[in-house]
Amino acid sequence: MMRCRVCKCSEREPCNPPCAWEAPGLCTTCAAAIAALVRWEEDALNARFAALVRAAKAYIDSPFIQASRTARGVGKRASA
Ligand SMILES: [Zn+2]
Ligand SMILES: [Zn+2]
Repeated sequence: MMRCRVCKCSEREPCNPPCAWEAPGLCTTCAAAIAALVRWEEDALNARFAALVRAAKAYIDSPFIQASRTARGVGKRASA
């Protein structure tokens, strides 16, 4: 069974919203994220890069985002 090499989704456990295969081993969700990341990095000024990363980490760690990620099942591991 093919899994996305980035997020490990598969045809049985697709992303939410459901994804398709952009390329073998890379789903459309992650392909879109990569494209956004590349575009963002090109736009970001080098001098502000560290501050942007800090802000992004604070954003990801915020309770609101954590609750949203949990609700969507992000990072949830398959457990029997
Ligand atoms: Zn993926
Ligand atoms: Zn996916």
